[in-house]
Amino acid sequence: MNLGLIVSLVVAAIAAGPGQSGQLQWFKGNTHTHSWWSDGDSPPETVVGWYKEHGYDFLVLSDHNCLSEGTKWINPEKSTKSTASSRYEKKYGPGWVETGPAPGKTEGPTHWRAKPLSEFRTFFEEPGKFLLIPGEEISSSFEKHPVHLCAFNLKDAVPPQKGKDVTETIQNNVSAVAEQSEKTGTLMLAQINHPNFRWGLTAENIMPTKGAALMEVYNGHGSVGNAGDEQHPSLDYIYDAVLTRRLGELNLPIIYGTATDDAHGLTSEGPGGSHPGRGWVMVRARYLTPEKILKAMQKGDFYASTGVVLKDVKSDGHALSIEIQPKPGVTYRTQFIGTLAGYDTKTSSRSPDPKDELTLKYSDDVGKVLSEQTGTEANYKLTGNELYVRAKVISSAKQPNPSVEGDLETAWVQPVRPQPGK
Ligand SMILES: [Zn+2]
Ligand SMILES: [Zn+2]
Repeated sequence: MNLGLIVSLVVAAIAAGPGQSGQLQWFKGNTHTHSWWSDGDSPPETVVGWYKEHGYDFLVLSDHNCLSEGTKWINPEKSTKSTASSRYEKKYGPGWVETGPAPGKTEGPTHWRAKPLSEFRTFFEEPGKFLLIPGEEISSSFEKHPVHLCAFNLKDAVPPQKGKDVTETIQNNVSAVAEQSEKTGTLMLAQINHPNFRWGLTAENIMPTKGAALMEVYNGHGSVGNAGDEQHPSLDYIYDAVLTRRLGELNLPIIYGTATDDAHGLTSEGPGGSHPGRGWVMVRARYLTPEKILKAMQKGDFYASTGVVLKDVKSDGHALSIEIQPKPGVTYRTQFIGTLAGYDTKTSSRSPDPKDELTLKYSDDVGKVLSEQTGTEANYKLTGNELYVRAKVISSAKQPNPSVEGDLETAWVQPVRPQPGK
Protein backbone atom coordinates (compact mmCIF):
# COMPACT_ATOMS: atom_id res chain seq x y z
CA MET A 1 0.00 0.00 0.00
CA ASN A 2 1.50 3.36 -0.91
CA LEU A 3 1.71 6.29 1.45
CA GLY A 4 -0.84 8.36 -0.48
CA LEU A 5 -3.43 5.61 -0.17
CA ILE A 6 -2.78 5.23 3.56
CA VAL A 7 -3.16 8.98 4.05
CA SER A 8 -6.40 9.10 2.10
CA LEU A 9 -7.81 6.12 4.04
CA VAL A 10 -6.94 7.82 7.32
CA VAL A 11 -8.50 11.07 6.12
CA ALA A 12 -11.64 9.19 5.02
CA ALA A 13 -11.90 7.45 8.41
CA ILE A 14 -11.56 10.76 10.26
CA ALA A 15 -14.06 12.50 8.00
CA ALA A 16 -16.53 9.67 8.58
CA GLY A 17 -16.42 10.27 12.35
CA PRO A 18 -15.98 7.60 15.00
CA GLY A 19 -19.47 6.18 14.64
CA GLN A 20 -19.51 6.09 10.83
CA SER A 21 -16.29 4.19 10.19
CA GLY A 22 -17.98 0.84 9.56
CA GLN A 23 -16.03 -0.73 12.44
CA LEU A 24 -17.96 -2.64 15.07
CA GLN A 25 -18.05 -0.54 18.22
CA TRP A 26 -20.06 0.02 21.38
CA PHE A 27 -22.63 2.82 21.41
CA LYS A 28 -24.03 3.99 24.73
CA GLY A 29 -27.73 4.81 24.83
CA ASN A 30 -30.79 5.23 26.99
CA THR A 31 -34.13 4.00 25.71
CA HIS A 32 -36.54 5.45 28.27
CA THR A 33 -36.68 9.20 29.08
CA HIS A 34 -39.29 11.84 29.82
CA SER A 35 -39.49 15.58 29.20
CA TRP A 36 -42.05 18.38 29.08
CA TRP A 37 -43.81 16.41 26.38
CA SER A 38 -45.39 14.45 29.26
CA ASP A 39 -44.51 14.36 32.97
CA GLY A 40 -40.75 15.04 32.88
CA ASP A 41 -39.73 18.18 34.76
CA SER A 42 -37.46 19.63 32.05
CA PRO A 43 -37.71 20.77 28.44
CA PRO A 44 -36.46 18.26 25.89
CA GLU A 45 -33.34 20.33 25.08
CA THR A 46 -32.22 20.14 28.74
CA VAL A 47 -32.84 16.38 28.77
CA VAL A 48 -31.08 15.69 25.47
CA GLY A 49 -28.23 18.06 26.42
CA TRP A 50 -27.68 16.13 29.66
CA TYR A 51 -27.24 12.85 27.82
CA LYS A 52 -24.98 14.26 25.16
CA GLU A 53 -22.79 16.01 27.73
CA HIS A 54 -22.53 12.77 29.73
CA GLY A 55 -21.05 10.75 26.88
CA TYR A 56 -24.11 9.00 25.50
CA ASP A 57 -24.22 8.27 21.77
CA PHE A 58 -27.97 7.94 21.39
CA LEU A 59 -31.19 8.62 23.22
CA VAL A 60 -34.79 7.55 22.77
CA LEU A 61 -37.21 10.21 23.97
CA SER A 62 -40.18 8.28 25.26
CA ASP A 63 -42.92 10.47 26.65
CA HIS A 64 -46.25 9.05 27.71
CA ASN A 65 -48.67 8.50 24.84
CA CYS A 66 -47.13 11.00 22.43
CA LEU A 67 -44.19 11.60 20.18
CA SER A 68 -42.20 14.80 20.77
CA GLU A 69 -44.16 16.65 18.13
CA GLY A 70 -47.04 19.07 17.70
CA THR A 71 -47.84 22.09 19.83
CA LYS A 72 -47.47 22.12 23.57
CA TRP A 73 -47.22 24.97 26.08
CA ILE A 74 -46.09 24.41 29.66
CA ASN A 75 -47.12 26.39 32.72
CA PRO A 76 -43.92 26.43 34.77
CA GLU A 77 -45.71 27.83 37.82
CA LYS A 78 -46.63 24.24 38.40
CA SER A 79 -44.20 22.13 40.44
CA THR A 80 -40.51 21.81 39.61
CA LYS A 81 -40.93 23.08 36.07
CA SER A 82 -40.08 26.63 37.19
CA THR A 83 -36.49 25.69 38.16
CA ALA A 84 -36.23 23.86 34.86
CA SER A 85 -37.50 26.81 32.82
CA SER A 86 -35.08 29.35 34.32
CA ARG A 87 -32.15 26.97 33.76
CA TYR A 88 -33.42 26.41 30.23
CA GLU A 89 -33.49 30.12 29.42
CA LYS A 90 -30.06 30.66 30.98
CA LYS A 91 -28.49 27.91 28.91
CA TYR A 92 -30.24 28.30 25.56
CA GLY A 93 -30.89 32.04 25.63
CA PRO A 94 -33.97 34.22 25.02
CA GLY A 95 -33.44 33.93 21.28
CA TRP A 96 -34.22 30.22 21.42
CA VAL A 97 -36.82 29.80 24.16
CA GLU A 98 -40.39 30.85 23.40
CA THR A 99 -42.71 32.18 26.06
CA GLY A 100 -46.14 33.75 26.06
CA PRO A 101 -49.58 33.55 27.59
CA ALA A 102 -51.43 30.25 27.50
CA PRO A 103 -52.64 29.34 24.00
CA GLY A 104 -55.78 31.30 23.13
CA LYS A 105 -55.25 33.79 26.01
CA THR A 106 -53.85 37.31 25.99
CA GLU A 107 -52.92 37.43 29.67
CA GLY A 108 -52.24 35.15 32.63
CA PRO A 109 -49.17 33.19 33.66
CA THR A 110 -46.30 32.94 31.22
CA HIS A 111 -46.19 29.63 29.42
CA TRP A 112 -43.19 28.00 27.77
CA ARG A 113 -43.27 26.22 24.47
CA ALA A 114 -42.12 22.59 24.43
CA LYS A 115 -40.27 22.37 21.13
CA PRO A 116 -40.74 19.40 18.83
CA LEU A 117 -37.96 16.97 17.98
CA SER A 118 -37.91 18.22 14.38
CA GLU A 119 -36.91 21.63 15.70
CA PHE A 120 -34.40 20.89 18.47
CA ARG A 121 -32.61 17.88 17.00
CA THR A 122 -30.39 20.17 14.91
CA PHE A 123 -28.85 21.43 18.15
CA PHE A 124 -27.60 18.00 19.13
CA GLU A 125 -27.36 15.43 16.38
CA GLU A 126 -24.00 14.77 14.75
CA PRO A 127 -23.39 11.96 12.25
CA GLY A 128 -21.62 9.11 14.01
CA LYS A 129 -21.53 10.96 17.31
CA PHE A 130 -25.00 11.59 18.61
CA LEU A 131 -28.36 10.28 17.49
CA LEU A 132 -31.94 10.91 18.61
CA ILE A 133 -34.45 8.13 18.01
CA PRO A 134 -38.13 9.08 18.20
CA GLY A 135 -40.09 7.11 20.78
CA GLU A 136 -43.16 6.88 22.94
CA GLU A 137 -43.98 5.23 26.22
CA ILE A 138 -47.31 3.71 25.33
CA SER A 139 -49.00 3.87 28.71
CA SER A 140 -52.05 1.69 29.04
CA SER A 141 -53.49 -0.26 31.95
CA PHE A 142 -55.75 -3.11 32.90
CA GLU A 143 -57.70 -2.38 36.08
CA LYS A 144 -55.07 -1.32 38.62
CA HIS A 145 -52.15 -2.71 36.61
CA PRO A 146 -50.11 -0.22 34.59
CA VAL A 147 -49.06 -1.65 31.22
CA HIS A 148 -46.25 0.52 29.82
CA LEU A 149 -44.15 -0.14 26.74
CA CYS A 150 -41.49 1.95 25.06
CA ALA A 151 -41.71 1.88 21.28
CA PHE A 152 -38.65 3.02 19.32
CA ASN A 153 -38.48 4.68 15.91
CA LEU A 154 -42.22 5.28 15.50
CA LYS A 155 -43.56 7.44 12.70
CA ASP A 156 -46.89 8.09 14.42
CA ALA A 157 -47.91 7.94 18.06
CA VAL A 158 -49.60 4.69 19.03
CA PRO A 159 -52.74 5.23 21.12
CA PRO A 160 -52.70 2.99 24.23
CA GLN A 161 -54.54 -0.26 23.51
CA LYS A 162 -56.82 -2.06 25.92
CA GLY A 163 -57.34 -5.80 26.43
CA LYS A 164 -59.48 -8.26 28.39
CA ASP A 165 -56.69 -8.88 30.91
CA VAL A 166 -53.10 -7.79 31.59
CA THR A 167 -51.60 -10.36 29.21
CA GLU A 168 -53.82 -9.34 26.31
CA THR A 169 -53.22 -5.65 27.06
CA ILE A 170 -49.45 -6.16 26.69
CA GLN A 171 -49.97 -8.13 23.47
CA ASN A 172 -52.34 -5.59 21.90
CA ASN A 173 -49.86 -2.76 22.46
CA VAL A 174 -46.91 -4.77 21.13
CA SER A 175 -49.01 -5.74 18.09
CA ALA A 176 -49.90 -2.10 17.42
CA VAL A 177 -46.18 -1.29 17.18
CA ALA A 178 -45.60 -4.30 14.91
CA GLU A 179 -48.47 -3.21 12.65
CA GLN A 180 -47.06 0.29 12.22
CA SER A 181 -43.62 -1.15 11.54
CA GLU A 182 -45.00 -3.41 8.84
CA LYS A 183 -47.21 -0.74 7.32
CA THR A 184 -44.42 1.80 7.05
CA GLY A 185 -41.62 -0.63 6.20
CA THR A 186 -39.61 0.81 9.10
CA LEU A 187 -37.86 -1.15 11.83
CA MET A 188 -39.50 -0.40 15.19
CA LEU A 189 -39.03 -2.20 18.51
CA ALA A 190 -41.17 -2.60 21.60
CA GLN A 191 -39.73 -2.80 25.12
CA ILE A 192 -41.88 -3.99 28.04
CA ASN A 193 -41.23 -1.56 30.89
CA HIS A 194 -40.82 -1.87 34.67
CA PRO A 195 -42.87 -5.03 35.33
CA ASN A 196 -42.81 -4.36 39.10
CA PHE A 197 -44.16 -0.79 38.91
CA ARG A 198 -47.25 -1.02 41.16
CA TRP A 199 -46.71 -4.77 40.79
CA GLY A 200 -48.34 -4.40 37.40
CA LEU A 201 -46.94 -7.29 35.34
CA THR A 202 -46.07 -10.84 36.31
CA ALA A 203 -43.78 -13.22 34.45
CA GLU A 204 -46.89 -15.10 33.35
CA ASN A 205 -48.27 -11.90 31.77
CA ILE A 206 -45.06 -11.25 29.83
CA MET A 207 -44.00 -14.75 28.75
CA PRO A 208 -46.55 -15.45 25.96
CA THR A 209 -46.05 -12.05 24.27
CA LYS A 210 -45.35 -12.33 20.56
CA GLY A 211 -43.26 -9.67 18.85
CA ALA A 212 -41.69 -7.93 21.86
CA ALA A 213 -37.93 -7.83 21.45
CA LEU A 214 -37.06 -6.31 24.82
CA MET A 215 -37.98 -5.96 28.46
CA GLU A 216 -36.46 -3.91 31.23
CA VAL A 217 -34.39 -5.90 33.74
CA TYR A 218 -33.44 -2.63 35.45
CA ASN A 219 -35.31 0.68 35.56
CA GLY A 220 -33.74 3.66 37.34
CA HIS A 221 -36.96 5.21 38.63
CA GLY A 222 -37.03 5.23 42.42
CA SER A 223 -40.42 3.54 42.77
CA VAL A 224 -40.41 0.60 40.39
CA GLY A 225 -39.40 -2.24 42.73
CA ASN A 226 -36.56 -3.80 40.72
CA ALA A 227 -35.60 -5.97 43.68
CA GLY A 228 -39.17 -7.07 44.49
CA ASP A 229 -40.30 -7.53 48.10
CA GLU A 230 -41.47 -10.37 50.38
CA GLN A 231 -44.53 -10.83 48.19
CA HIS A 232 -43.09 -10.11 44.76
CA PRO A 233 -40.09 -11.52 42.89
CA SER A 234 -37.23 -9.39 41.57
CA LEU A 235 -36.96 -8.42 37.89
CA ASP A 236 -34.10 -10.92 37.56
CA TYR A 237 -36.38 -13.71 38.77
CA ILE A 238 -39.21 -12.57 36.50
CA TYR A 239 -36.78 -12.45 33.60
CA ASP A 240 -35.57 -16.02 34.21
CA ALA A 241 -39.13 -17.30 34.51
CA VAL A 242 -40.03 -15.56 31.23
CA LEU A 243 -36.99 -16.99 29.40
CA THR A 244 -37.47 -20.49 30.81
CA ARG A 245 -41.10 -20.84 29.83
CA ARG A 246 -40.65 -19.16 26.43
CA LEU A 247 -37.75 -21.39 25.44
CA GLY A 248 -38.73 -24.54 27.32
CA GLU A 249 -42.47 -24.73 26.75
CA LEU A 250 -43.88 -21.98 24.55
CA ASN A 251 -41.43 -22.22 21.66
CA LEU A 252 -41.02 -18.43 21.55
CA PRO A 253 -37.78 -16.48 20.99
CA ILE A 254 -35.62 -14.81 23.61
CA ILE A 255 -36.65 -11.41 24.92
CA TYR A 256 -33.50 -9.37 25.56
CA GLY A 257 -32.99 -7.36 28.74
CA THR A 258 -32.45 -3.60 28.92
CA ALA A 259 -31.45 -1.20 31.68
CA THR A 260 -32.97 2.27 31.43
CA ASP A 261 -33.27 5.54 33.35
CA ASP A 262 -36.96 6.31 33.01
CA ALA A 263 -35.70 9.77 33.94
CA HIS A 264 -38.31 12.37 34.86
CA GLY A 265 -36.33 14.63 37.18
CA LEU A 266 -33.32 16.75 36.29
CA THR A 267 -33.97 19.50 38.82
CA SER A 268 -33.45 17.46 41.99
CA GLU A 269 -30.61 15.32 43.28
CA GLY A 270 -29.86 12.46 45.64
CA PRO A 271 -31.01 8.87 45.97
CA GLY A 272 -34.53 7.89 44.92
CA GLY A 273 -36.33 10.19 42.50
CA SER A 274 -35.88 9.52 38.81
CA HIS A 275 -32.61 11.09 37.75
CA PRO A 276 -30.72 10.39 34.53
CA GLY A 277 -27.56 8.28 34.32
CA ARG A 278 -28.59 5.17 36.24
CA GLY A 279 -29.26 2.50 33.63
CA TRP A 280 -28.28 2.26 29.99
CA VAL A 281 -27.47 -0.08 27.13
CA MET A 282 -24.21 -0.55 25.24
CA VAL A 283 -25.07 -1.58 21.69
CA ARG A 284 -22.53 -3.11 19.30
CA ALA A 285 -23.02 -1.79 15.78
CA ARG A 286 -21.07 -0.54 12.80
CA TYR A 287 -22.95 2.71 12.28
CA LEU A 288 -24.87 5.06 14.51
CA THR A 289 -28.21 5.00 12.71
CA PRO A 290 -31.65 4.03 14.07
CA GLU A 291 -31.73 0.93 11.85
CA LYS A 292 -28.30 -0.35 12.88
CA ILE A 293 -28.91 0.30 16.58
CA LEU A 294 -32.34 -1.34 16.52
CA LYS A 295 -31.15 -4.30 14.46
CA ALA A 296 -28.32 -4.96 16.92
CA MET A 297 -30.74 -4.75 19.86
CA GLN A 298 -33.23 -7.02 18.11
CA LYS A 299 -30.61 -9.76 17.85
CA GLY A 300 -29.25 -9.21 21.36
CA ASP A 301 -25.93 -7.63 20.41
CA PHE A 302 -25.84 -5.34 23.42
CA TYR A 303 -25.56 -5.44 27.18
CA ALA A 304 -27.39 -3.53 29.89
CA SER A 305 -25.47 -1.69 32.59
CA THR A 306 -25.70 0.42 35.71
CA GLY A 307 -21.98 1.12 35.78
CA VAL A 308 -19.97 -1.94 34.74
CA VAL A 309 -18.15 -1.45 31.42
CA LEU A 310 -17.33 -4.48 29.29
CA LYS A 311 -14.48 -4.57 26.81
CA ASP A 312 -15.84 -7.56 24.99
CA VAL A 313 -18.59 -10.17 24.96
CA LYS A 314 -18.15 -13.26 22.79
CA SER A 315 -20.47 -16.12 22.15
CA ASP A 316 -20.59 -18.77 19.45
CA GLY A 317 -23.27 -20.96 21.00
CA HIS A 318 -20.58 -23.16 22.63
CA ALA A 319 -19.13 -20.65 25.07
CA LEU A 320 -19.95 -17.26 26.51
CA SER A 321 -16.95 -15.15 27.46
CA ILE A 322 -16.77 -11.71 28.97
CA GLU A 323 -13.97 -9.24 29.44
CA ILE A 324 -14.53 -6.47 31.96
CA GLN A 325 -12.95 -3.01 31.80
CA PRO A 326 -11.56 -2.72 35.32
CA LYS A 327 -11.93 0.35 37.53
CA PRO A 328 -9.26 0.96 40.16
CA GLY A 329 -10.05 -0.60 43.53
CA VAL A 330 -13.15 -2.39 42.26
CA THR A 331 -13.67 -6.17 42.20
CA TYR A 332 -16.08 -8.11 40.00
CA ARG A 333 -17.98 -11.36 40.20
CA THR A 334 -19.74 -12.82 37.20
CA GLN A 335 -22.69 -15.15 37.56
CA PHE A 336 -23.63 -17.33 34.62
CA ILE A 337 -27.36 -17.88 35.09
CA GLY A 338 -29.55 -20.32 33.19
CA THR A 339 -32.11 -23.08 33.24
CA LEU A 340 -31.28 -26.61 32.14
CA ALA A 341 -33.48 -28.73 29.90
CA GLY A 342 -35.63 -31.12 31.90
CA TYR A 343 -36.25 -28.53 34.62
CA ASP A 344 -39.04 -29.18 37.04
CA THR A 345 -42.05 -27.42 35.49
CA LYS A 346 -44.11 -27.67 38.67
CA THR A 347 -45.08 -24.42 40.28
CA SER A 348 -46.55 -23.42 43.59
CA SER A 349 -48.24 -20.10 44.18
CA ARG A 350 -46.28 -17.60 46.24
CA SER A 351 -49.47 -15.90 47.16
CA PRO A 352 -51.66 -16.93 50.09
CA ASP A 353 -54.62 -15.58 48.11
CA PRO A 354 -55.14 -17.65 44.95
CA LYS A 355 -56.97 -14.74 43.27
CA ASP A 356 -53.88 -12.57 43.62
CA GLU A 357 -51.91 -12.39 40.40
CA LEU A 358 -48.41 -12.74 41.81
CA THR A 359 -45.75 -14.42 39.76
CA LEU A 360 -45.77 -18.11 40.51
CA LYS A 361 -42.95 -19.69 42.42
CA TYR A 362 -41.04 -22.10 40.24
CA SER A 363 -38.78 -24.87 41.38
CA ASP A 364 -35.19 -23.92 42.11
CA ASP A 365 -34.30 -25.23 38.64
CA VAL A 366 -35.35 -21.90 37.09
CA GLY A 367 -32.62 -19.28 36.71
CA LYS A 368 -29.90 -21.22 38.53
CA VAL A 369 -26.41 -19.81 39.01
CA LEU A 370 -24.52 -22.36 36.90
CA SER A 371 -21.10 -20.84 37.59
CA GLU A 372 -19.75 -17.89 39.54
CA GLN A 373 -16.33 -16.43 38.78
CA THR A 374 -14.31 -13.50 40.07
CA GLY A 375 -11.88 -11.25 38.20
CA THR A 376 -12.07 -9.27 35.00
CA GLU A 377 -12.47 -12.23 32.68
CA ALA A 378 -15.18 -14.83 32.88
CA ASN A 379 -15.94 -17.75 30.63
CA TYR A 380 -18.69 -20.36 30.54
CA LYS A 381 -18.63 -23.43 28.32
CA LEU A 382 -22.10 -24.54 27.36
CA THR A 383 -22.81 -28.25 27.81
CA GLY A 384 -25.65 -28.19 25.26
CA ASN A 385 -28.12 -29.00 28.00
CA GLU A 386 -28.99 -25.36 28.79
CA LEU A 387 -32.18 -23.71 27.56
CA TYR A 388 -30.22 -20.47 27.79
CA VAL A 389 -27.32 -18.95 29.67
CA ARG A 390 -27.01 -15.28 30.54
CA ALA A 391 -24.47 -13.45 32.67
CA LYS A 392 -24.72 -10.89 35.40
CA VAL A 393 -21.55 -9.01 36.32
CA ILE A 394 -21.77 -7.52 39.81
CA SER A 395 -19.09 -5.08 40.89
CA SER A 396 -18.08 -4.12 44.42
CA ALA A 397 -18.74 -0.42 43.62
CA LYS A 398 -21.96 1.23 44.70
CA GLN A 399 -23.88 3.21 42.10
CA PRO A 400 -23.04 6.92 42.64
CA ASN A 401 -26.62 8.07 42.07
CA PRO A 402 -28.77 5.07 42.95
CA SER A 403 -32.52 4.71 42.86
CA VAL A 404 -32.16 2.46 45.89
CA GLU A 405 -29.28 3.13 48.25
CA GLY A 406 -26.62 0.44 48.26
CA ASP A 407 -27.32 -0.82 44.71
CA LEU A 408 -24.09 -2.12 43.18
CA GLU A 409 -22.90 -1.32 39.66
CA THR A 410 -23.96 -4.26 37.50
CA ALA A 411 -24.03 -5.42 33.88
CA TRP A 412 -26.49 -7.85 32.33
CA VAL A 413 -25.15 -9.84 29.39
CA GLN A 414 -27.81 -11.16 27.02
CA PRO A 415 -28.91 -14.78 27.08
CA VAL A 416 -27.50 -17.21 24.52
CA ARG A 417 -28.74 -20.64 23.47
CA PRO A 418 -26.49 -23.63 22.81
CA GLN A 419 -25.83 -24.38 19.15
CA PRO A 420 -25.65 -27.94 17.91
CA GLY A 421 -22.31 -29.35 16.67
CA LYS A 422 -18.77 -28.50 17.62
ZN1 LIG B 1 -43.82 3.77 32.78
ZN1 LIG C 1 -41.42 6.09 31.85
